[in-house]
Amino acid sequence: MGLSASGGRRSPWRIALKTIIRNARVLTMDAADTEYPRATVHVEDGVITAVVPDAVGIAAAGVSAPAPDVREIEASGHLLMPGLVNAHFHSSVNDLKGSLDSLPLEIFMLYESPSDGAAVEPRAAYVRTMLGALEMLKTGVTAVLDDAFFVPAPSLELIDAVMQAYEDCGIRAVLALDQPNVPELDKLPYLRDLLPPALRAKAAAAPPMDAAGLLACYQHLIEHWHDRDNGRLRAAVSCSAPQRVTREYFRSLDDLSRQYGLPFYIHILETKLQRVLGEQCFGGRSLIRYVYDEGFLSERLNIIHGVWLDERDMDLIAQAGCVIAHNPISNLRLGSGIMPFQKLRSRGIPICLGSDESIADDAVNMWSVAKLTGLIHNISAPDYQLWPKAGDVLDCLIRGGSRAMRAPRPVGQVAVGHQADLVLIDLDTLAFTPLNDLRRQLVYCENGSSVRMTMVAGKVVYEHGAVAGVDEAALRGEARELAVRQRSTSDAAQDVAREWLPYYREMYLRAAARDVGMSRWAFEGPAIGQR
Ligand SMILES: [Zn+2]
Repeated sequence: MGLSASGGRRSPWRIALKTIIRNARVLTMDAADTEYPRATVHVEDGVITAVVPDAVGIAAAGVSAPAPDVREIEASGHLLMPGLVNAHFHSSVNDLKGSLDSLPLEIFMLYESPSDGAAVEPRAAYVRTMLGALEMLKTGVTAVLDDAFFVPAPSLELIDAVMQAYEDCGIRAVLALDQPNVPELDKLPYLRDLLPPALRAKAAAAPPMDAAGLLACYQHLIEHWHDRDNGRLRAAVSCSAPQRVTREYFRSLDDLSRQYGLPFYIHILETKLQRVLGEQCFGGRSLIRYVYDEGFLSERLNIIHGVWLDERDMDLIAQAGCVIAHNPISNLRLGSGIMPFQKLRSRGIPICLGSDESIADDAVNMWSVAKLTGLIHNISAPDYQLWPKAGDVLDCLIRGGSRAMRAPRPVGQVAVGHQADLVLIDLDTLAFTPLNDLRRQLVYCENGSSVRMTMVAGKVVYEHGAVAGVDEAALRGEARELAVRQRSTSDAAQDVAREWLPYYREMYLRAAARDVGMSRWAFEGPAIGQR
């Protein structure tokens, strides 16, 4: 890729008011799935202003000749496509990749967010947020929907640290605060009977921050960060999961979401235990049915996981117009099960893709997520005509992700009027040699190493192997130092988790053995010892 900059605009973002990307192969991802063997794309003030196929010619297309302040990028031999969207992510554990063996969610969470966990410093939150953001930008992810949680509680300084990292690195980010406001005992089945009195008293304690405190944090997030940098940084809301919040707080978040048009992140039916919880503690209803009955099932919801949905749940989701965030690597890492992909797609429910978190995926690589999406559902049905095609996976990755953002301006296509969130992919790499089928090789061959340039809102934020304005080597060094300092705290937290483990294991086994009238696991028969 020849990168020549004219005009003297070499700010940290290497901003040119206008950028022209010449001679790229272009995958537009528009509704008609248009692809140009060769085209020139004009970007001005963050927006795509012209897409000129080779045969048309600049003059015929009514596009004026370049001015001195225009940066030109010669992109022959490269593919230009919309940036990838990581539609479900928790930046909070970006520094914990590889920390745990595979465990079921409910046991895994004992170690991930221990009840006695120490607060993190804002600088550490900044550094860990940046680690994930760099990994994403370098592999062509232009937007992330971050459902950040803070142990024991969020603060205005921590919110600022996370958003400052996103502002500094240049990625498009939509941040929510994933914080429960009910005691642990109310979030899980069987636990009330299983725990000994001392632990039961601890589990019955209210979380450190109540609804009023959490809403004050949202007020800060929205006032200080929402719609910043021409809408690149935005707020969302999150209740974490329906069973983790009170109805009143749920309603307040729904009101905020409606008032500002914000996406609403909500984990629903990730695991079989959560299906059992609905039967036991929500009047025999699935958690989707509960959310519907409360009047909260809306097109603003990004339903995360949706693995243990039944047919009626899926009908309700389709009627309401929700998006489903599919995280197949996390679902396998935590043994949660296989989401009913084809049943959701056949109902017209939009699906977006996410990496979930670095302690349950271990990488922040949306190419891996896309590849697994293209593979895992092949074992859900013998009829191969139902198996996802590469085009289906790209549809989820780009169009589904763009839909999940609820962005006020169009994004997700190489098309006039869309936000210039673009990636250039080198086609002279082993992944694309020989080039047999572009879409299949994007889904099944590419791993992110062919990405040569990432542009967000018209700014080149990654090229020549580096993210603009970020000293990555210094950041990695700081992250290593922070990890050493945090190790003693996390070792202590692991000891605490071990104390709870026998009771959580029993709870998990009881739920696993229960007949819920369906299975999303890839095996038949009783789970672990019929009870
Ligand atoms: Zn999640």
